[in-house]
Amino acid sequence: MTTETRAFQAEVQQVLNLVIHSLYSNKEIFLRELVSNASDALDKLRFEALSKPELLAGDPELAIEIEFDETARTLTIRDNGIGMSHDEVVENIGTIARSGTRRFLDALSGDARKDAQLIGQFGVGFYSAYIVSDKVELRTRRAGAEANEGVLWSSDGKGEYAIETVEYPRRGTEIVMHLKEDESEFLSSWRLRSLIHKYSEHIAFPIRMRGEQPPAPEAEEGAEAPQPAAAEMETVNQAAALWARPKADLSDEDYQGFFKHLAHSDGEALCWSHNKVEGNQSYTSLLYIPSKAPFDLFGGGRDERHGLKLYIKRVFIMDAAEQLLPAYLRFVRGVIDSDDLPLNVSRELLQDNRLTQQIRSAVIKRTLDQLDKLAQDQPEKFADFWREFGQVFKEGLTEDFAHRERIAKLLRFASTQSEGAAQTVSLSDYLGRMRPNQTAIYYITAESHLAARNSPHLEAFRAKGVEVLLASDRIDEWALSYLHEFDGKPFVSVAKGDIDLGNIDNVEGASVPPAADLPEGLADRLKSVLGDRVKAVRGSSRLRDSAAVLVVDQHELSLHTQRLLKQAGQAAAGGGAPTLELNPAHAITARLAAETDEARFADWATLLYEQAVLSEGGQLEDPSGFVRRLNGLLFAA
Ligand code: ADP
Repeated sequence: MTTETRAFQAEVQQVLNLVIHSLYSNKEIFLRELVSNASDALDKLRFEALSKPELLAGDPELAIEIEFDETARTLTIRDNGIGMSHDEVVENIGTIARSGTRRFLDALSGDARKDAQLIGQFGVGFYSAYIVSDKVELRTRRAGAEANEGVLWSSDGKGEYAIETVEYPRRGTEIVMHLKEDESEFLSSWRLRSLIHKYSEHIAFPIRMRGEQPPAPEAEEGAEAPQPAAAEMETVNQAAALWARPKADLSDEDYQGFFKHLAHSDGEALCWSHNKVEGNQSYTSLLYIPSKAPFDLFGGGRDERHGLKLYIKRVFIMDAAEQLLPAYLRFVRGVIDSDDLPLNVSRELLQDNRLTQQIRSAVIKRTLDQLDKLAQDQPEKFADFWREFGQVFKEGLTEDFAHRERIAKLLRFASTQSEGAAQTVSLSDYLGRMRPNQTAIYYITAESHLAARNSPHLEAFRAKGVEVLLASDRIDEWALSYLHEFDGKPFVSVAKGDIDLGNIDNVEGASVPPAADLPEGLADRLKSVLGDRVKAVRGSSRLRDSAAVLVVDQHELSLHTQRLLKQAGQAAAGGGAPTLELNPAHAITARLAAETDEARFADWATLLYEQAVLSEGGQLEDPSGFVRRLNGLLFAA
């Protein structure tokens, strides 16, 4: 047999270095990660054995073994699971096939602490062995393969690995870690057992370690001292699937530990719900809402591997988030264990199975219930949820019409009455603060929180004491277009169409609104200078301090969304020219009306239009012309 030496894919080496350097302060997670991998491998074998029972032949009891050798300074983690073929080892261990890896690497900031958190969410897997080892050997044999089809992979984690075909007497995978000099703490039965209890207590397979060494028998006079018998292996963990145990037996710690195993994540779960359903079908569901978003919640969409796992009668079948969760709840992690689905269920079958559809509805309902409860009982925790997952959750407005009402109740917005972007209000809060005679829920969409908060569109609303929701997530305009009303009150964008606040009293001390009428002939003169850049020019009832603002029609996309679409290379649907509204009470308006020099009038008019473009976040077509005009008028004054 020949040994082949190969180089790691550049990305692998990058991830490896990162794991070694940034996770050092949390090094013990390697055991959890390797045990998780072993447990996944046992799950896969059990699944394949459903149709090929011969795979279990001679070695039917699935288990994980952990052993250490103080003299050799090695720690071994062994499973009799599915194992890997030569090609699978190259594929799985030498490369990172996951499409998310590039995005993950791009997301790194260079700040060690932040990156450590990120990589914790990425799921470090096998490479975590190198946090504490200076060399790792992996021996494996695919279930069903011959004894001479074993594979030995080894590497010191520095650029290259060696791989060869070897004899391996059993099915499954064995990982031998040669511990670094100062990692002797992991050569301790007590330490290893406590880590197993902490992270792996509730995986469904037994984890075995050697028990106490039995005392060596007395040596006969003159005879050589006999070898002490090796201690028996004993099971260290509960080895019963957590979700299958009664709730009353489980502590918060148990649930949190299992979450980390499930999500391959260092984060805590924010909350969970664990239910056994019996009725026309029976199944158990355990659903977690994480406290931190995975790094690629937006980029690649779902991380199929760590979403919702489908078990049937305790046998892992597949990761089935796509079948069991709508996209807007893709942050949910957990387990569904069905007693009624057929064990040979395929993805396709799952898709249009009546039982699956029922489970899916129940999962949605339970998740929304959990969020309601969180919002009610623990508003600070709900705020955490909203910060991490709010943007994704809002997608629900566009895809889950049946629950639109419930989703709307959970929405949170920054508003003119909240401080900063982080403090948010709910729609019920908003309704409770509506002014007498106010008939609509007002909102503004903008590119950023500050652009929304400082928009000239808000001036009249401030004077009237009318609260406006400040929506600055990219998805907001799209999502809100699906939400026509809440509690009978329509949603109205303050930047669109005609706004009539005439029935609402001014707050005390507010400046009296100007008449909306412009001086005779001014609108026409402006329109003829500005041409196609504006649809029309009219007096505004929106403005108090600003001179001018651009407005789109009620059913058009806002200007900033039109810009986003244009940047994305899409034609903005219906994006005609906006209307220029002018503040009749502003000094510039008076100045314009009095201007008799046509060239000077044209400069003023253009400048006014350009100001309006800038203040709503737009880009000028002719920035240097703007500067020239501005300076010209400044010095003419
Ligand atoms: P992840 O588990 O997140 O996919 P890893 O780097 O830990 O990433 O593992 C990569 C792949 O290697 C796994 O998806 C699996 O296919 C394979 N693998 C790892 N450990 C084992 C094992 N003990 N038995 C069989 N396959 C394994």
